[in-house]
Amino acid sequence: MDVPNVPETVQTRCCIVGGGPAGMMLGFLLARQGVDVVVLEKHSDFLRDFRGDTIHPSTLELMHELGLLDAFLARPHQETRTVSLVIGGETLMLGDFTHLPTTCKFIAFMPQWDFLDFLADHARANPHFHLRMQAEATDVIAEAGRVVGVRVSTPQGLLEVRADLVVAADGRRSTIRERSGLEVMNIGAPMDVLWMRLPKLPGDPSQLLGRIEAGHMLVMIDRGDYWQCAYLIAKGSFEALKAQGLPALRAKLVDLAPFLSGRVEELRTWEDIKLLTVEVDRLKTWSKPGLLCIGDAAHAMSPVGGVGINLAVQDAVATSNILGPLLKDGPVDPKQLALVQQRREWPTEMTQRLQVLLQNRMITPLLKSKGPVSAPWFVRLLARWPYFRRLPARVIGIGFRPEHIR
Ligand SMILES: Cc1cc2nc3c(=O)[nH]c(=O)nc-3n(C[C@H](O)[C@H](O)[C@H](O)COP(=O)(O)OP(=O)(O)OC[C@H]3O[C@@H](n4cnc5c(N)ncnc54)[C@H](O)[C@@H]3O)c2cc1C
Repeated sequence: MDVPNVPETVQTRCCIVGGGPAGMMLGFLLARQGVDVVVLEKHSDFLRDFRGDTIHPSTLELMHELGLLDAFLARPHQETRTVSLVIGGETLMLGDFTHLPTTCKFIAFMPQWDFLDFLADHARANPHFHLRMQAEATDVIAEAGRVVGVRVSTPQGLLEVRADLVVAADGRRSTIRERSGLEVMNIGAPMDVLWMRLPKLPGDPSQLLGRIEAGHMLVMIDRGDYWQCAYLIAKGSFEALKAQGLPALRAKLVDLAPFLSGRVEELRTWEDIKLLTVEVDRLKTWSKPGLLCIGDAAHAMSPVGGVGINLAVQDAVATSNILGPLLKDGPVDPKQLALVQQRREWPTEMTQRLQVLLQNRMITPLLKSKGPVSAPWFVRLLARWPYFRRLPARVIGIGFRPEHIR
């Protein structure tokens, strides 16, 4: 006789789907307020390669407010105080973080898995925090027009997590937002990214950030003993690039950064190169009764400016500030859920507008260009006047409407 597969049921105040920057930070902050929280992460660890690496001054400020900054900065990381681009062989400094009104006047580069491990380690010390790895939410459970939990697949079998509030923090391909039928406004992106590692050798330039030549662009992130490289290509052009063969790609990389010559052979097969499709979108409404979306699940960010992690963390802080005190008493009214969108929609929209502006005015023309490239006028203006460099540093480093731990 078949034994029915009866799911295990877990009851909690808040179920957070997704252990990325938004989900882990929110889980940590809610547990810190005494709210019982279950975070579900579908992978068995945080150790995946295709994660952004930037921890911005505003996120470092939050660490400072939490009393965790020294412990955080004790982990291996690199610091950058300025942002430069090499366009057509000319080096232009575009951002200077040293004037920011924050404790840390730099961007910290730390592999995101280390950042998430750090949050998980500190959160686990709190009895209200429960992290379940290898737990993939597959659907929402709705009763009487309200989301009351999620169905979860785990190696041990099915699980139902029932909660006063479900938070979708499961990223730009969010299952939860798709299953809940929330309407997405697609904004679009003209590029995709090829993600690859190349060896770093003594004598390499330090903190090299962006290199642009006709038709292609390379961003290199210093990860200590290797370069994490993001090579931008026009959207949908990966197959055409593959058809040209790996030697052609290697030559393009050397063209952008000649010091890579002799190392690009480390890219042995196309398996060494991951295609990351870039999406930019935003939900019309971030919540419905019993459910709230935050981070990329509410607004997928372009990699331009490397601000997505920061925005995801800021959403988490706003959610914790607004809903944490209410959640202690049980379910949250839909009007109160809407307050999170009211608080975070403006900074999100402003950031996405700027990203789209840069995509359209700078990245698309450069990716289409066949001849020699030169910096657009606004880039020259920033490079020429040190005072103007504070503006991009502020937008990238702090963003619009920064949040603080209450
Ligand atoms: C190519 C590229 C490069 C980027 N580089 C940067 C950068 O350098 N700096 C920067 O700030 N931003 C960068 N971004 C943007 C940044 O990655 C995102 O904005 C940010 O990670 C969003 O955080 P999040 O927590 O909302 O979502 P995510 O980081 O996507 O986290 C979602 C988590 O949910 C888990 N999950 C998904 N589905 C489920 C499910 N059904 N059940 C359980 N768990 C689930 C995932 O495994 C993941 O751990 C980049 C984006 C792209 C595309």
